[in-house]
Amino acid sequence: MTTFDYAPAPESRSVVKISSEYGHFINGEFVAGANHFPSINPANEEVLSQIALGSSADVDRAVKAARVAYEAVWSKMSGRERGKYLYRIARILQERAREFAVLESLDNGKPIRESRDVDVPLAAAHFFYHAGWADKLDYAGLGHAPQAHGVAGQIIPWNFPLLMLAWKIAPALATGNTVVLKPAETTSLTALLFAQVCQQADLPQGVVNIVTGDGSTGAAIVDHPGIDKIAFTGSTEVGKAIARAIAPTKKKATLELGGKAANIVFDDAPIDETVEGIVNGIFFNQGHVCCAGSRLLLQENVAEEILRKLKVQMAKIRVGDPLDKNTDLGAINSSAQLSKIRELSESGGSEGAERWSPECILPDKGFWFAPTIFTGVTQAHRIAREEIFGPVLSVLTFRTPQEAIEKANNTPYGLSAGIWSEKGSRILWASQQLKAGVVWANTFNKFDPASPFGGYKESGWGREGGRHGLTAYLKSSQLSHKEGGVNEDE
Ligand code: NAP
Ligand code: MG
Repeated sequence: MTTFDYAPAPESRSVVKISSEYGHFINGEFVAGANHFPSINPANEEVLSQIALGSSADVDRAVKAARVAYEAVWSKMSGRERGKYLYRIARILQERAREFAVLESLDNGKPIRESRDVDVPLAAAHFFYHAGWADKLDYAGLGHAPQAHGVAGQIIPWNFPLLMLAWKIAPALATGNTVVLKPAETTSLTALLFAQVCQQADLPQGVVNIVTGDGSTGAAIVDHPGIDKIAFTGSTEVGKAIARAIAPTKKKATLELGGKAANIVFDDAPIDETVEGIVNGIFFNQGHVCCAGSRLLLQENVAEEILRKLKVQMAKIRVGDPLDKNTDLGAINSSAQLSKIRELSESGGSEGAERWSPECILPDKGFWFAPTIFTGVTQAHRIAREEIFGPVLSVLTFRTPQEAIEKANNTPYGLSAGIWSEKGSRILWASQQLKAGVVWANTFNKFDPASPFGGYKESGWGREGGRHGLTAYLKSSQLSHKEGGVNEDE
């Protein structure tokens, strides 16, 4: 059989203009920072720009601007008027979609195919969806005229920089809150481009403030007395520190933390579709996905066939230049993350699991990790328990459906899960047993702004997206102290 190699199909980067240095976006304008750190392209280690390191004084200015904007403008504006700004932002994101996609791939390392087809369209969809809610909050199930909290402090991770910004800013603005947002240290550039979109949309000054920086900048937001609500997405470790910091205060919080999702394959699953779903579940976004299907649970009698076909599929994954339109797996976001993936993968080998990767040539510069699977994994292995947050799949087997559920739920996390089966009754039965905020059936990693997302146990508090997500940004006498009131059986 003749095979043809793919010709390179690079997306042009001429559509983006990156300044050599950025400040913070406070009260509608860019203000210079005192100290800076570099943001690099993880695919080749090229320095893209210098990013301002936000101090507590910068955070203070931003919180004050957000407070004035809340009191003088945003809380007084009708939902209908607020909605117009959100629609405008959504449309500008669509108009500038290529620019955002290229910039995201440069700064984050994710394939252009994903930033173009997933991150940016979903970010716009979040603004469209929440624009629709802005004048309908009376119908959100929270009673008449539910009130905003005031100023929201929002801290996001590096795996979906623009999309996580949209998950945070769209519901906050729709419900009448103003925001101070901190992007992750390694991926600030699309947030800074978003600041320009706010200017382009004539958003009133101070409604959105963006302070770049590191963990200390995030902590300054958490600790600021002028913040009414924290929305955090990131690691369980930092989430716990935030919960401790705000415990003595009246601050509300939603925490979207880590995961170690089980992707369960029953023996009646459609094999070829399932194999594709497994690949998408773990190798999408280099596995830098909190809800990744990182623990594959295979029913024993189909395990061999699935693994054989999975290896064939994995050998077809194209690893390399994130800006190439044929690339499936891009760069690991940072050298720190690469070290973490390497360390956990080495523990898999030394604890006795069997490691396999397809032959693949990795670029010399930048941060890269080949798609990897471990078979013969037991529940005690670190790679079955800890979040690797990389393109590494741990494979376990089971004999009975009950055993699958027990293994799936045997984790401190509970963000997502997947079920592959042809029987509707089995899918419904299994999804009711799984302690996970999102359960996908015969698909994986599907997101929609109308669908609430969030976890059980150490995966976090509250929900983002959908009607449930609105409740985290609104005060209502009908809710319990826990945001959204949806973490029921914890
Ligand atoms: P991380 O270290 O917790 O960082 C998340 C954000 O918090 C970053 O902006 C970070 O700033 C900031 N930060 C760090 N220390 C802080 C502190 N003490 N106080 C306040 N803010 C602080 O997480 P990560 O390693 O970047 O991201 C990966 C983790 O996020 C994974 O565990 C993943 O599961 C989780 N995640 C969860 C979801 C979800 O929806 N549940 C989505 C995506 C990722 P710096 O970047 O400057 O360190
Ligand atoms: Mg970067």
